[in-house]
Amino acid sequence: MTMAYSNRYRSHHDGAKALKQKCGASESGEEYLPPILAERAKTPLVIYLHVPFCNKVCSFCPFHRPDTLDRREYHRVLIDKIEALAKYPYMKAPVDAVNFGGGTPTALSFRQMDDVLSALHRNFDIRDDAEISVETSATELSDDMLRVLKAGGVNRLSIGVQSFDDEARRLLGRRGGRERAIDAVERALDAGIVNTGIDLIYNYPGQTKERLLSDLAIIRRLGVAGLSFYSLVLHEKTPLYRKLAADGKLDYADLDREYDFYRTILEELGKSGFAMLELTKLVRNNLDRYRYMELRHSGGSCIAVGQGAGGNIENYYYHNSAHTPPVSDQIAVSSKGRVVLPVFRTLDAFFYEMQKGTIRPAFYAEKLERDLQTPFAPVLGRLAGEGLIYSQNDVYFFTEKGSFWGNNIIDELIRSLLPVV
Ligand code: SF4
Repeated sequence: MTMAYSNRYRSHHDGAKALKQKCGASESGEEYLPPILAERAKTPLVIYLHVPFCNKVCSFCPFHRPDTLDRREYHRVLIDKIEALAKYPYMKAPVDAVNFGGGTPTALSFRQMDDVLSALHRNFDIRDDAEISVETSATELSDDMLRVLKAGGVNRLSIGVQSFDDEARRLLGRRGGRERAIDAVERALDAGIVNTGIDLIYNYPGQTKERLLSDLAIIRRLGVAGLSFYSLVLHEKTPLYRKLAADGKLDYADLDREYDFYRTILEELGKSGFAMLELTKLVRNNLDRYRYMELRHSGGSCIAVGQGAGGNIENYYYHNSAHTPPVSDQIAVSSKGRVVLPVFRTLDAFFYEMQKGTIRPAFYAEKLERDLQTPFAPVLGRLAGEGLIYSQNDVYFFTEKGSFWGNNIIDELIRSLLPVV
């Protein structure tokens, strides 16, 4: 394969961060938030709850930090925050989606999870048809946990399987073997959570095409609703990196193999009705719309609950941390944030659409009242020439090769836009 870029970005890059900085408003959170919170939200509301710990740290994970939390009481931190936030008139609007992420949210005990879900329903007006989503792992999805999640209205599960292959699971530091992972997925589906998806890591050291095909065959047989798939990224300071460095195996794979595996995933799962929802997400027969993410990027507000959670209240984007005080005594929202100009929300929607494989410069040029032709035309022309995108009626779509390089392309387009924002 000819290389479109020298280095493949395997997830969002920092272009969006640069864009947010560029779109910063002069207003502070202390000025911006009080009138907003004093009125019922008119834009869709979603809630993100973060549980920043895991019962076992995966060998490849760069997110693990020394754990200074009192885990036994962490659910109380979440519940206190839910209660503190719910008192604002803004939060009286119905909630369209709730997402528990981490870490591993089901590192909470099933009783703690029950308490948190009850507090949510008691304090917020969660719509009957809201998407309520929980990330979990094969080993933590006990029958008790499943029962609590079902009773709490959870209707979307994302199970961090990563691979069904015993050897791969050991290498990646996942607990339990193939049968345990299969059993977790089957029990979730049997419990009636149709929208159950899994995470898959591919292109790990020692993976062969046969081992990948075996994982894909299991996925097809199980009938999961969706799949988030990631090529393994080796981060320094992780146990896996150190092990490979010690064994002299850091350069175990090249981009040709990565692309071959990527294509195999699309091809094999395409036979069973899986199609791309986002660059790293496939969905079977439209069973998962991932409303939470859609609403976050289409003008909604995301109420962040828990340490490490990020969200936005209208144009105030913020991040919670244990050490950051609230905006003020009256405003129980993290002060680690910034107000952005409205243009950022439109650009955010534009770039999220790109994550879903569609580029609409003409549509957004009109919305933004800006000339996008000048910055975009040379880039889009080159990408089309290299077979990474194609166009239909002023709308551009990624080719298969383009979606492989999708995060690079989006990053390049964001950067080309920075001068005109
Ligand atoms: S479960 Fe997720 S967050 Fe936790 S260690 Fe593994 S990869 Fe990291």
